[in-house]
Amino acid sequence: MPDRRDMDANSAQGGCVRGSSVRLIVLDRDGVINLDSANFIKSLAEWQPIPGALEAIARLKNHGYLVAVCTNQSGVGRGLLSESTLLEIHDHLSHALAGFGAGLDDWRYCPHLPGEGCECRKPKPGMLLELMSTLGVDPTQTCFVGDSLRDMQAAQAAGCEGVLVRTGHGSEVEAAVLSIGIRRVYDDLAAFADAQIGSPQHSDSGPQQC
Ligand SMILES: [Mg+2]
Ligand SMILES: [Zn+2]
Repeated sequence: MPDRRDMDANSAQGGCVRGSSVRLIVLDRDGVINLDSANFIKSLAEWQPIPGALEAIARLKNHGYLVAVCTNQSGVGRGLLSESTLLEIHDHLSHALAGFGAGLDDWRYCPHLPGEGCECRKPKPGMLLELMSTLGVDPTQTCFVGDSLRDMQAAQAAGCEGVLVRTGHGSEVEAAVLSIGIRRVYDDLAAFADAQIGSPQHSDSGPQQC
């Protein structure tokens, strides 16, 4: 059941807070789950989780959310890492999550270069649209957690809520992200998970009127 007081609290803040209707949480990878690098994450050794991020994913899963990843990996198109190394890193992430009793529901990556004009590279919404279609979840029940302006633009283009975390590039782009209408900003994925889990569950509340 939606909690009336929380709904009132949300409207008292002057905006639509979709936290309570969310079923699917899509995460950017670099800067959200693991530390980012200006030189790309090219090997397993360079993939280092942000403290608390894997536990946060496990907590979201334990609370019934679908969790997926969508990540730009132009390092593949640039020849900096092979697709098999990217898959190896993903397997490592999956294995690490399994250690917390959790697993991702799906993931998508874009291996293309910025100039290739593909439909998947964020800020294009291709990967998000595909994930929502595959998992059968409506954009109004989906939020995309990222650390860059293009993540938030992709979320908006896909019709879902963008949520910024201040890890990775997040703190640098916070002002720009707020200026395009993003409402929820958290210090990191763990703080987002705390807030999301604390919100009323979606199951019988239906779509919110915004
Ligand atoms: Mg990122
Ligand atoms: Zn692409």
